[in-house]
Amino acid sequence: EDTALEIDKLSLFYDDTRALSEISMRVPKCKVTAFIGPSGCGKSTLLRCINRMNDLVDGCRVEGEVLLNGKNIYDNDVNVPSLRRQVGMVFQRPNPFPKSIYENVIYGLRLQGIKDPRVLDDAAERSLQAAALWDEVKDRLNDNAFGLSGGQQQRLVIARAIAIEPKVLLLDEPTSALDPISTLTIEELINELKHKYTVVIVTHNMQQAARVSDQTAFINLGRLVEYADTDTLFTTP
Ligand code: ADP
Ligand code: ADP
Repeated sequence: EDTALEIDKLSLFYDDTRALSEISMRVPKCKVTAFIGPSGCGKSTLLRCINRMNDLVDGCRVEGEVLLNGKNIYDNDVNVPSLRRQVGMVFQRPNPFPKSIYENVIYGLRLQGIKDPRVLDDAAERSLQAAALWDEVKDRLNDNAFGLSGGQQQRLVIARAIAIEPKVLLLDEPTSALDPISTLTIEELINELKHKYTVVIVTHNMQQAARVSDQTAFINLGRLVEYADTDTLFTTP
């Protein structure tokens, strides 16, 4: 089975306002799926449904299902912290913790109670390699993460997300706070990540969707208006 996520008739309300309307789609494994559409159309809201971030919002109500490996993440018996370990999230603004580069990367492993320094060191190196940051930071792992550039901080946050080996990686406009060179670096990285992870990216930038995604979902007014292979959508016949 090559479906990572199945979204089935998903609707979302903020109090009485409907933000998403009966969205149904399959997100394939080990591909990059882009959510694009105008500001306020519901892209971030839809992304946040995949790791139940919306549960934090007062007055938010969800109908329908999001199946992760066949299991509805909105079922009563779902453990939300364990869901979030399977579905990592990266935000628009890089948000490293005020700690060393090393401690940022292994943060999730420490939370899991892992103490063996060899295990932690290996995970740190592997994750930083995977996030294309190792060469730049290997000699300064104990420096504070805030000393890194914005683009490096975003790669550090990606390393932190993948250190705990999630199944799905959610990226919410991950480059819109970055300069053009850092943006290209992150886009190249996204193209690498999909070999191992299912990636879902929110972007308002069509060119970015064309550059990084395999599938593109167009959202408008809370509805899925088009969902197809990116190549098909962006190639003029
Ligand atoms: P996008 O990511 O496409 O810009 P959002 O998902 O952020 O859109 O927002 C979709 C709609 O839901 C907008 O009308 C927005 O104002 C509304 N919305 C988003 N977050 C909340 C919230 N916490 N409470 C109430 N309304 C919200
Ligand atoms: P971003 O583009 O980074 O999502 P926003 O300004 O759209 O930033 O939203 C910032 C926060 O405010 C988000 O957590 C979002 O859910 C919330 N939000 C957005 N629109 C509304 C709204 N109409 N009412 C209440 N909260 C909102």
